[in-house]
Amino acid sequence: METKVSLNFVEEIVEKDLASGKHETIQTRFPPEPNGFLHIGHASSICLNFGLKNRFNGKCNLRFDDTNPSTEETRYVEAIKKDIQWLGFEWDKELYASDYFDQLYAWAVQLIKEGLAYVDDSSAEEIAEQKGTPTKPGSRNKFAERTVEENLDLFERMKNGEFENGAKVLRAKIDMASPNMLLRDPLIYRIKKEPHHRTGDKWVIYPMYDFAHGQSDSIENVTHSICTLEFENHRPLYNWFIEKLGIFPSRQIEFARRNLSHTVMSKRKLLQLVNENLVNGWDDPRMPTISGLRRRGYTAASIRNYANKIGIARRENVIDVSLLEFCAREDLNKVATRVMAVLDPLKVVITNYPKGEMEWVEMPNNPEDGKNTVHRMPFSGELYIERKDFMEDPPKKFFRLGPGRMSRLKAGYIIRCDGFEKDENGKVTQLNCTYFPESKSGQDTSGLKAKGVLHWVSIAHAAKAEIRQYDRLFLDENPQGHEGKDFKEFINPDSLSVIEEAYIEPFLTNAEPGKHYQFMRTGYFTPDPDSTKEKLIFNRTVTLRDSWAKAQRK
Ligand code: ATP
Ligand code: MG
Repeated sequence: METKVSLNFVEEIVEKDLASGKHETIQTRFPPEPNGFLHIGHASSICLNFGLKNRFNGKCNLRFDDTNPSTEETRYVEAIKKDIQWLGFEWDKELYASDYFDQLYAWAVQLIKEGLAYVDDSSAEEIAEQKGTPTKPGSRNKFAERTVEENLDLFERMKNGEFENGAKVLRAKIDMASPNMLLRDPLIYRIKKEPHHRTGDKWVIYPMYDFAHGQSDSIENVTHSICTLEFENHRPLYNWFIEKLGIFPSRQIEFARRNLSHTVMSKRKLLQLVNENLVNGWDDPRMPTISGLRRRGYTAASIRNYANKIGIARRENVIDVSLLEFCAREDLNKVATRVMAVLDPLKVVITNYPKGEMEWVEMPNNPEDGKNTVHRMPFSGELYIERKDFMEDPPKKFFRLGPGRMSRLKAGYIIRCDGFEKDENGKVTQLNCTYFPESKSGQDTSGLKAKGVLHWVSIAHAAKAEIRQYDRLFLDENPQGHEGKDFKEFINPDSLSVIEEAYIEPFLTNAEPGKHYQFMRTGYFTPDPDSTKEKLIFNRTVTLRDSWAKAQRK
């Protein structure tokens, strides 16, 4: 697999903790909330957590932080599991915060008994009002004076469904003057009369994320609880719970979220794109989701390499999507099978090729993989080449076809363009060429020189295919970074262009999703899951070279 030498700062902490004997082995976890599909940002967290397991011979669990029944669904659980496995990682245990609801309830009762939690009847607005501001301390209300007995009774009745949504909450009694707003008597339980994707109707009160996440880590003896920076000021709260409840002290370590340019990453925003049909589902190949990238033709190795290359840091920044594309090219160059496909066909008739005949030529599968394998391609007297490989009046430096000019057909012969035909609109419809029988690739004795090498398909043997070409989903580098503007204003109207009728060599008719191809001189492609034997569909993963940077400069 990938090689990596230097340790990142989390790995350094773990190494120290093992060396000092603080821990004998380490336990990490990847804790997604099943409220959407995983995206490329999650890949960083996955590679980090599972990477620690692999490097230090520890354990890593997959834990679903499923404390909010309104947004969570079983299909998201399934999608998340599939994506992690596809990325090449194995979890030790599959766990759910919802499995701890009884324990969390018991801990809430314990806090009440110790006078450390109370039931508050105030509205959300009142609670916000009483919280104060970072510079002004908050104040407690009369509900904070409730007795333990009263609180125990009310909390139990909350659990029994006696009160409506929002009528009461349970709050931890910490410090209304703390400079850390999260310690100003935070909500720990709320009433939510909604079925949960796993516990069904059992509960009508649910722990807040902050009352579930840290304790779940403790229950699982997580030694290093890794999360993103926005949880840094939650750490004192988690530590307060650990101390008051006397439970396993997981150590939280924060790192900066990884952001990608020309896209949005929060699941809430991605869900909007899906719900408003601005993309075709979570796995639309333009989405920054793992499933979208997979469908687009990214390999798991290219995503792991990307995550390793960007590494982790304490400071947030935006990574240009061209780095992700670079990683795709780098891996696809190694694994993709070379094939020929013509996206914008121009007919070539080889006038001296025996009428009605054909022959097989050999196309190398991949010059980079050291295996020297080939596949067969039919060659005949009627071919398609790419329209842009011909110019009526080419400049000197144009090394492809023009009147009197020669080019080599890859794996085939050198041909010379003798003339061309046009329709009434002046569009070139056909090239008339001659071929040189002694110039066959691999056994060329013609002594001819042709600088240009063209791809082609034999018309009689080629299959039709639909080609879906993708571009960045957003024109702006940071679509969510504009005050007062909706990120959707920056959607690229040309992020998908479809070629209805491209022509592919017959070898490709057996292509299946999950296989990667380099369409010679064009880019990397993969069959879309929509593809059938009757209608072949390919997605362009990336072009061969970075054309975006160039277009931007114009
Ligand atoms: P989003 O805001 O995209 O919905 P989230 O943080 O709410 O993300 P979770 O399901 O809670 O999503 O995330 C699971 C884990 O992945 C968490 O530990 C979270 O910190 C981490 N994570 C999420 N987004 C990123 C990111 N962009 N870069 C690195 N790690 C991330
Ligand atoms: Mg979250």
